[in-house]
Amino acid sequence: MECRCDWTKEEIRAVHDTPLLELIYSAASIHRKHHTADQLQVCSLLSIKTGGCPEDCKYCPQSARYKTDVNASSLMQEEEIINSAKKAIANGSTRFCMGAAWRSVRDGPQFDRILEVVKQITSMGVEVCCTLGMLNESQAKRLKQAGLYAYNHNLDTSPEFYPSITTTRRYEDRLKTLDTVEKAGISVCCGGIIGMGESIEDRIGLLQMLASRNPHPESVPINLLIPVAGTPLEERAFIPIWDMVRMIATARIIMPKAMVRLSGGRLGRSMEEHALCFLAGANSIFSGEKLLTRPCSDFDADREMMDLFGLKILPAFEAKK
Ligand code: SF4
Repeated sequence: MECRCDWTKEEIRAVHDTPLLELIYSAASIHRKHHTADQLQVCSLLSIKTGGCPEDCKYCPQSARYKTDVNASSLMQEEEIINSAKKAIANGSTRFCMGAAWRSVRDGPQFDRILEVVKQITSMGVEVCCTLGMLNESQAKRLKQAGLYAYNHNLDTSPEFYPSITTTRRYEDRLKTLDTVEKAGISVCCGGIIGMGESIEDRIGLLQMLASRNPHPESVPINLLIPVAGTPLEERAFIPIWDMVRMIATARIIMPKAMVRLSGGRLGRSMEEHALCFLAGANSIFSGEKLLTRPCSDFDADREMMDLFGLKILPAFEAKK
């Protein structure tokens, strides 16, 4: 199947609502046409500047507006970040992501520090990704020159539901940043979160926004909300794995070449649930002590799971070949 950027909501909904086993079978078949199905990309995500964020994303413990267990801290020192990257690489990560809780990037010594670590970690032979908030063209160009491989900027949900989640910026701002990243020649990582109280139509709306980008995002992280005490979404119930499986399978079918990343919310989910997500077309995970500020499934547990499933680590820069 060729990649399409003109999926209608009705078409996506029809895929999403396919009887579950049939849906998994279709997604698994498409996965095998476009990817080596026994390879899994293992990524690590480090929070290099934690908390104190002026934005009001209702799911996020890093917003300065909510009283959570996250303590704000300043940008990590170069050496600390590099050591963390070395550890992740030694444990098998081939993509190293760094997140800063900023509304947008500001030029100055802190950004210069990030450019320097991007350069150094890139020279270690891994894909480097950053998520730093909104950025302008010159900042995107400088990141590209430093060797940045990918930039993460999630759309989170549908345009309609977005204002119920974040009010301090607009959906259009997100799209504009994605355009800026793409124009600089940086690979786009963009996905969303389910379990925030959105409707199925909102999930379809998010998928349509992602699939109508041309080219499709190289990487599509699908997160399950982790309800954190102190955030407005703290009371949200954990959603059934079937919702995640449907979301992953639909993303795989409508964006066949993307790396579909099983991201936040997988800690505590069983091996069987993971197996279903991989069968449905997820081909990437975050591994390590933490996923930004939340505990993550550690390298040893993931290695054991991968051995059991016969999955191997996808080498860096292979996904694009
Ligand atoms: S998701 Fe990002 S932008 Fe939103 S509050 Fe958290 S750190 Fe800030």
